[in-house]
Amino acid sequence: MKAFDHYAHYDTARLNAVPFTTLASHYSTVVKRGSAQFTLCPWHDDKHPSLALYNDGANRRSHCHCFACGKTASPIDFVMQHEGCSFQQACDIIGRLFGIWGDAPAPSPVRRVQLVEPSVAKEPTYIPMDYVEQHLSVDNSFCQGLRHLFDFALVQHLAEEYRLGCLDTGVHPDSVLFPNIDLQGRVRNVKVQHYGTDPASPNFLKSDKRHCFWIGKQLVKQGLLPADAEFDNECLFGEHLLPRYPMTPVILVESPKNALVGAAAFPQFLWVATGNKGMLKRNVLSTLRGRTVLVYPDRDAIEEWEEKLCHMQDIASFRVSHLCEQVAPADQPKYDIADFIISHQLA
Ligand SMILES: [Zn+2]
Repeated sequence: MKAFDHYAHYDTARLNAVPFTTLASHYSTVVKRGSAQFTLCPWHDDKHPSLALYNDGANRRSHCHCFACGKTASPIDFVMQHEGCSFQQACDIIGRLFGIWGDAPAPSPVRRVQLVEPSVAKEPTYIPMDYVEQHLSVDNSFCQGLRHLFDFALVQHLAEEYRLGCLDTGVHPDSVLFPNIDLQGRVRNVKVQHYGTDPASPNFLKSDKRHCFWIGKQLVKQGLLPADAEFDNECLFGEHLLPRYPMTPVILVESPKNALVGAAAFPQFLWVATGNKGMLKRNVLSTLRGRTVLVYPDRDAIEEWEEKLCHMQDIASFRVSHLCEQVAPADQPKYDIADFIISHQLA
């Protein structure tokens, strides 16, 4: 703590040894689970208390650890994060709360600490399951493309499992709906995309990037969801299937297309997708806890994913494949597992 020597009038060691559960209870509810106490984590968008609180024992400082985002921090860090304040202000707040003033005289008069209201995360808006059910269909461009590669009964089965739908967007009458359904069966959002269906075209099963969007905002515009709706897309595509197949080895890929093409070719695995590179996060991957997970990153993401996942081996046993690097043609930097499978099916 050399960097903070100019705050020496605070006894930071004593401030960081205060009972964490008491401190946290000033900000949010503290719940007991087994022998441990938890509160909402201020470092990520926590919906269920994931931050474990450890009070100072005989020799150790009080600290907290988040089982979702992996953050470990001290009481002073915790207050800085909650209040968005400086180190000195955080020391001041804890000092006032617990009457710890180090070698500085207690400020006089001691004003009551103004703490922020406990920030309980707003419950996100979900897309009604009825919306997904009403649009279920294999008449979308993606399933029609897959028909050229795989048995149609298998395509129908996968569309049913992953709840794929068809939507007329005005631009494309046969856009595909990829719903993000979470472990609890709630629809976080639905991705709308359109794919080339002609196996002879270079655009075969390539998505039209200009017409790719999430349906949530559009339903708000149409007045079908409240104007202040907020969506939380942080869930794996295919996540809702995890409890249904608890013993099946999982394969993690980036796009829903990769997951479905993979599932059609190798149905002995349960294929899930992050949706994009940025979703490779602890809170998103925590639903894979305890599973055996094979990972097929796109060619341009192998290094990044390998690096990130080596810090998440406590969640699941992630094994990263370099296949896309090994088999990709030199001119295809974004080569993915679907490209590999499709080229084999067409050959
Ligand atoms: Zn956290």
